[in-house]
Amino acid sequence: MHPKMKELKERLTEVDDLNSATWLLSWDQQTYMPPGGAEARGRQMATLQHLAHEKFTDDRIGYLLDDLQREYADEPYASNEAALLRVTAREYAKATQVPPDFVVEASNHSSAIFSAWTTARPDNDFARLRPMLEKTLDLSKRYATYFPGHAEPIDPHIENSDYGMDAAIIGALFADLRAQLVPLVQAIAERPLADDSVLHQHYPEAAQIAFGEEVARTLGYDFKRGRQDKTYHPFATKFSINDVRITTRLDAEFLSAGLFGTIHETGHAMYEQGVDQALEATPLASGTSSGVHESQSRLWENLVGRSRNFWHHFYAPLQEQFPAQLGNVSMDTFYRAINKVEPSLIRVEADEVTYNLHVMLRFDLERALLNGQLAVADLPEAWNARMEADLGLVPPDDRDGVLQDVHWYAGFIGGAFQGYTLGNVMSAQFFAAAQQAHPTIRDQIRTGSFDTLRGWLTENIYTHGTKYSADEVIRNATGSPLSIAPYMAYLHGKYGELYGL
Ligand code: ZN
Repeated sequence: MHPKMKELKERLTEVDDLNSATWLLSWDQQTYMPPGGAEARGRQMATLQHLAHEKFTDDRIGYLLDDLQREYADEPYASNEAALLRVTAREYAKATQVPPDFVVEASNHSSAIFSAWTTARPDNDFARLRPMLEKTLDLSKRYATYFPGHAEPIDPHIENSDYGMDAAIIGALFADLRAQLVPLVQAIAERPLADDSVLHQHYPEAAQIAFGEEVARTLGYDFKRGRQDKTYHPFATKFSINDVRITTRLDAEFLSAGLFGTIHETGHAMYEQGVDQALEATPLASGTSSGVHESQSRLWENLVGRSRNFWHHFYAPLQEQFPAQLGNVSMDTFYRAINKVEPSLIRVEADEVTYNLHVMLRFDLERALLNGQLAVADLPEAWNARMEADLGLVPPDDRDGVLQDVHWYAGFIGGAFQGYTLGNVMSAQFFAAAQQAHPTIRDQIRTGSFDTLRGWLTENIYTHGTKYSADEVIRNATGSPLSIAPYMAYLHGKYGELYGL
């Protein structure tokens, strides 16, 4: 190996070690840390983040990247070295283009508005947050000015989570999707509501955990390189390719929260566990974009976990775990319950059909805010009007409207939402391509075997880490660019049958 490549990798490993230690402190903060630890923990994480940032933005890294990019100019695009230089140079430019003073100002402001939001939301007081949210909008616009050459101020924010996408691409995709989803949601809303009362019974936590872990293990999550713990806001996190953890939140009175939450995080974690070991401790060793990451959690949660085939295998074990609750409930009743569609106010509680309407609303509003077409003062009204147009509901107050998500009140405005819907769209395209390559996947799922599906996903998506952009992964894996057609076909097939449309 070129001595300068060796030096670059050693320096990047140190940065990765500091980042991984920060994630571990954060995992602990959200699972086992006693409340008394909060203040010191905040300081400890900030110190590690500061050290990692300092090491990563060191001039020596810039020099090595410049030099090695010349040295490796003839290296094939797909090689690990070429990809490492490509992705690291991109991240280095991003980390060095924003002035340190701005980073401090933005970080102080986001702590302040987050703290204000934690009381303003329960108080239903948007007016109190308004001046602070105006400052957030100003900071978000200023951030964009450090990355000139984009068509819209939201684009650099999108690029941070979904590299290769921009507002024009996503806006067009979402407009098509919305035009097809709104009539589907309306058609479903006119049918009798599915009954999901069987899910709202007492389900003891220990049995829920036992069943969830059995499902995660069977899907292919490696517990020798992972573990599951309880938390309030479930997440998956990675300290190395060989230590990828999931967390879950259980509701003893509602089965779906823990069950599908566990499958969702298992999907995220299997992606991270499936990255090529050769990429360990480099910027290549993680999922490539928020959209592709979400496509994996959604694929396992919805296309697999909420399918008839899946429950053909798992329903009997579930009944065995909960005989009093489900012993006399037919699989068909259970299947209809877990796929109930109902327009609702809260994004995180929405079903898989209406969910995207919540996401697209946020994307369009944040794009309008950043483009100067919408003022912060008019945001609650714009929110409510769009809810009525798309979901036929008007939030009774801002608490369950514009104040519901933490995203705008804990960071920049822009870039944090589109990945959820991109992930849903991608999940169906990946699943269709996997089934086309291996028509036996359907039957295997019916017998509780997921190796062929996971193998296809590993080979086409997981193993590459961030070597390829989302667009490259999709084209290479499915032979086509991103398209809403497989997703709409999936929704029409499944919900057409369920609701007799
Ligand atoms: Zn997710």
